[in-house]
Amino acid sequence: MLTPDEKAVLRRIDDRKEELVDCLRRLIRFRTVTPLFRGRAEGDDYAGLQSFLSDRLAGLGFDVEMWEADASTLERFPGCGVVPDRDLSNMPILVARRERAGPSLLLNGHYDVVPPGVVTNWRHPPFDGVVENDRVFGRGACDMKAGLAAIVEALRCVVEANGEIPGTVVVESVPDEEMTSMGTLVCCQRDVRADAAIVPEPTDLQVLVAVRGSLGGRIVVSGRAGHSEMAQIPWRDGGPVNAISKAARVVEGLERLNAEWATRPDKRHRYLDPDTIVATMIRGGEWDVMVPERVEITFDSMFVPSTKDKRAEIQAGLDSIAHDDDWMRDHPPVLEAGDYLYGAEIREDEPIVRAASAALTDLGLESRFVGSGSLTDMVHLINYSKIPTVCVGPAARTAHAADECVTVDELVTTTKALALMILRWCGGPDRRRSG
Ligand SMILES: [Zn+2]
Repeated sequence: MLTPDEKAVLRRIDDRKEELVDCLRRLIRFRTVTPLFRGRAEGDDYAGLQSFLSDRLAGLGFDVEMWEADASTLERFPGCGVVPDRDLSNMPILVARRERAGPSLLLNGHYDVVPPGVVTNWRHPPFDGVVENDRVFGRGACDMKAGLAAIVEALRCVVEANGEIPGTVVVESVPDEEMTSMGTLVCCQRDVRADAAIVPEPTDLQVLVAVRGSLGGRIVVSGRAGHSEMAQIPWRDGGPVNAISKAARVVEGLERLNAEWATRPDKRHRYLDPDTIVATMIRGGEWDVMVPERVEITFDSMFVPSTKDKRAEIQAGLDSIAHDDDWMRDHPPVLEAGDYLYGAEIREDEPIVRAASAALTDLGLESRFVGSGSLTDMVHLINYSKIPTVCVGPAARTAHAADECVTVDELVTTTKALALMILRWCGGPDRRRSG
């Protein structure tokens, strides 16, 4: 049930639909692509986007702080996923606060986006923010500049229609979620806190309560070089060993690992798929007429939050693959992996989860709990800062794809859901109704 105050705020959001769409289009026009793993942020306008948000939030009475982080100074611990030599300069972090007596709420969004891919596969240029058929197109449209626009406009409409936000609101706009999630970790390690947090990542307007953790790395497979066109002596007598053939066995072995994890009870989760490991890149061989002596398999592994040590599980898998092969028993594939990033989940009876559910229900939606195979910055908010956190946002179907877009409807609904949650959460425990 909506109160008259809440109805007034929702009406205000409908009245300001044009401004909401305009805000998103302007955010899309700031090109803010995440640099490659060893790359550096250059040519994109991260600072421009942050200044734009800073002006809007300052206009709503927020105290805004902006700074550049240094990844090498971050505290490291199991599950942190820290890449100490990642260059975060030019990608400022923004934290804005509006402090009042009463419960506090953190609204977190990442402003970095994945690259556009093949630009000619887009119907509209990826950084123009074109509106067609009630959809806003552009890289980041749903993931997650819609969420950032919704945060700003929800706050504006609450302030304008309600006169005040009763509690404390903190806004974080962070870089590098698409690569390392270190932007949010920087805020966590600065002890930016609140009683609960919402991340409006795309969730198909459902309540996201669980995400898988991730470990990326490489497996190096060795062989022994030789002339590929001549008769060879047996490898036991010093002859060549084809590293590509051995790598094929490793890839098959990884697929067997997936099949095994899929059946294990400890990998079963109510909202998440079991653990996976996917070979995502392969590089090997040295010359056209040479038996290859080295292959590098890049992998991406995701796992349920209860998984304790994914690296050890992958190592055990590789050990058993090596055990079944005469060459690899003495020349085992080498696992090279950095720090992993933990998964996260939140209980369904947490007040912020019930508030999210109730907001969606009151907007006429069928609210369901969901999990995501890929992680979001909620992992640091939940695990490091111990802040109960949910994700609620627009449809995810075009995230990371050509023609990424968000419908104006989803954008408006996301903004309304955030506004209701702000009003109810910050309004005190009696207004945090369950769903
Ligand atoms: Zn995202």
